[in-house]
Amino acid sequence: MFQQLCPGLFSTRSEHTAGTSRTEAALSRRSLRLVRLGATLLLACAATLDLVNAQQIWRGVGTPALHAQAPGERPEFSWPIVKGEYPRLRGLTSTFGESRVDHFHNGLDIAASGDPVHPVAPGFILYSRTPSDDPFAPEQGPGNFVYLYHGQGWYSGYYHLQSGEALVRSGNVKPTTPIGQAGNTGHSGGPHLHFFITAENGRKIINPLYLLPPATDENPPIIGQINIITPAGRTLVSHSRAERIRLTKRYPILLNIIDPGLEPYTRRGVYRLSWKLKGGVATDYNFSSITYRDGDWRLEGGQVFDQVFQYNLYKLNGLEFQNGRNELIVRAEDHSGNITEVLFDVTVDREY
Ligand SMILES: [Zn+2]
Repeated sequence: MFQQLCPGLFSTRSEHTAGTSRTEAALSRRSLRLVRLGATLLLACAATLDLVNAQQIWRGVGTPALHAQAPGERPEFSWPIVKGEYPRLRGLTSTFGESRVDHFHNGLDIAASGDPVHPVAPGFILYSRTPSDDPFAPEQGPGNFVYLYHGQGWYSGYYHLQSGEALVRSGNVKPTTPIGQAGNTGHSGGPHLHFFITAENGRKIINPLYLLPPATDENPPIIGQINIITPAGRTLVSHSRAERIRLTKRYPILLNIIDPGLEPYTRRGVYRLSWKLKGGVATDYNFSSITYRDGDWRLEGGQVFDQVFQYNLYKLNGLEFQNGRNELIVRAEDHSGNITEVLFDVTVDREY
């Protein structure tokens, strides 16, 4: 039934998992995220279709001890694992909305091994899965995982928990209740917790950094080169000097951007990206949430998220270089408010 109602969730996406990551861990994380997204879509789709009615599921299993919340009110959220000291939290190796081959990273990753995982808010266990449920068919993507319901349409999920019996399988949980231990199960290239928070019964997946107590750093995003990928190869354009290129047709303009955060080896996504040709109108990507609307998962600005990336790079949709000189201003902002702005000065010989 799910399959009929939610086509696409069950399609094989492994063809997208090949990549050119610098490390095995990165590659593994990438393929995992495909599956993570699928799981979230399933949850979201189920909620959309009212196939999951948490209240009904829970009748007879326990009484959810949820605080009465006014419609639209949100729970008070806390970090499931704290590494470092507030507000300089460490181990945030991946952020919401990173540049990926073909999908959206829907949560945060915290590098951790064996650390107790705590609920981000009071709630109850909606669903959990461990090897004892089916030792012969482990969940490929999330590994051992737990979904929590927090009332008023808010859910959260916790993946890759350590093997072995779950600490809790049902009932009410508080932010002080350990629900598992960070591990490396499922498609995970190193011990870490992947978690996500959704609102509106799964229709909206929100960047956890905007719900949790602040985590900051002082390192601004790094804007790399423009990539124009043609059958003949890859044309790279730097912002550090005036460039001249030839274009034989309208190719997508792709941009390499990373946000280092506190750990220099991480390649995290940015919070906002905007660009404009000098004298033109700016286009903006905002990665604070994605919402299921009109048949697609969309950014705040309405853009379809699976058109935002290509070849692991940010795709500047709608941008077309004019014949002659182009001055392209690009601005990237990270989750701590650090901003990088650069100017690409590129003269184009258009042959189309
Ligand atoms: Zn993740």
